[in-house]
Amino acid sequence: MRATLMHGAGDVRSEDIPDPTLVEPTDAVVRVTAASICGSDLWPYKTLEPSEEGRPMGHEAVGVVEEVGDEVSIVKRGEMVVMPFAFSDGTCLFCHEDLHTECLHGGFFGNGGPDAGGAQAEAIRVPQADGTLFPLPTDADEALMPSLLTLSDVMGTGQHAAVVAGVTEGKIAAIVGDGAVGLCGVIAAKRLGAEQIIVLGRHADRTDLAREFGATDVVSERGPEGVERVRELTDGLGAHSVLECVGHDESTQTAIGIARAGGAVGRVGVPQSETMPGSQTAFFGNIVVGGGPAPARAYMDDLLPDILDGKIEPGRVFDRTVGLEEVPDGYRAMNEREALKVMVRP
Ligand SMILES: [Zn+2]
Repeated sequence: MRATLMHGAGDVRSEDIPDPTLVEPTDAVVRVTAASICGSDLWPYKTLEPSEEGRPMGHEAVGVVEEVGDEVSIVKRGEMVVMPFAFSDGTCLFCHEDLHTECLHGGFFGNGGPDAGGAQAEAIRVPQADGTLFPLPTDADEALMPSLLTLSDVMGTGQHAAVVAGVTEGKIAAIVGDGAVGLCGVIAAKRLGAEQIIVLGRHADRTDLAREFGATDVVSERGPEGVERVRELTDGLGAHSVLECVGHDESTQTAIGIARAGGAVGRVGVPQSETMPGSQTAFFGNIVVGGGPAPARAYMDDLLPDILDGKIEPGRVFDRTVGLEEVPDGYRAMNEREALKVMVRP
């Protein structure tokens, strides 16, 4: 089959690899009908060490179940499913706490680990199929596919940031970052009832979309100026809930800087350094800082009806669609900020 492999920084290729097969009796093989390139794929795109074998890429997919192992009982052949970016058994104590990304038998797709291949391919092997795959209604409209695809990562991740940040009815939420996750964070904040929604971002086309998703204010300044601007917009107090959707030191510092005393920061941007900036600001402000890899699987039941009803349209973050052969150019376009988020149709 055709698949996407990254052989080093800036070196993405579409090539032939063996078809995925069932390895464990709890596996399924899914034929991918739509996948996407994630902002987090751009990190190895900038830094990956060169290798001959290459790393299978992609962790967001919608597809059709093609084969299931003997111990798979919930997921059925022929079913249309969403594949979250992490696999999980659905039965361990963490899965029962809706923290599927900490599953005792889980792992991540497309990260170079031994267990899981990449979703930017014609098909993918899915470990722990029953606990991982989320069956879609049989009559789900094709036009909804982009939004359903966002359940695999960006919409669930934006939701996680909002939940960890404690967004509630009538409160002020601020979202740091205008990438696909930040925009989905705006949707999540709106959906959870935030009254004022401030987005921090500098790309007019993206912040325009943020406004359509429910943002009430846009702050384009960064660093201390951005913090100052948010304070001006919030009677000098800051936001109750801050969604950190970038992961850089500066954005984390900003996120903590714009949280009001007693507020919370939900971090979903993958941190690029070991130490966390803003420690003293957080401490003296009694600010709760939390977050991590989003248990996207846990949020699907809650988010699905709003997508089916057209109440939320997170699929609007996709502004380009490519075939498998054009995936390398999709990486280039996202890396150069020419595209916001790229969908892959194998
Ligand atoms: Zn588990």
